[in-house]
Amino acid sequence: MIDPNCVFCRIAAGEIPAQVVADSPRVVAFHDLNPVAPVHVLIIPRDHIESLGAAGPQHVGLIGEMVTTAQELATELELDAGWRFLTNVGPDGGQSVGHLHFHLIGGRRMSWPPG
Ligand code: AMP
Ligand code: ZN
Repeated sequence: MIDPNCVFCRIAAGEIPAQVVADSPRVVAFHDLNPVAPVHVLIIPRDHIESLGAAGPQHVGLIGEMVTTAQELATELELDAGWRFLTNVGPDGGQSVGHLHFHLIGGRRMSWPPG
């Protein structure tokens, strides 16, 4: 299902421009508009799922495809020194767009804990 009011649904549908780096029938990846590191890619499902908290057992294959997409992009984007892969869920998690997305971040040394 696609939500016409959702910015990431519209990017997946090609209605809003984005720098797409990978796509498949189920998954799209594109550069974040406000990168927090030299490489900052978002990996999303084409279907509208609010967050990882709203995903169920029927999404396990889809989530696996997003993970392998991240691995492939990390190789392609030469993140040989390491990378971070995360998703924010809800207000306390820092989620600002209500469509499931994983951040693939790299190209600089990360710190821990996150803010
Ligand atoms: P989060 O805060 O985890 O929900 O992440 C949302 C991310 O989406 C942020 O890093 C934003 O910079 C990014 N973002 C929002 N709108 C766009 C857009 N139109 N194209 C690319 N990235 C976007
Ligand atoms: Zn959506």
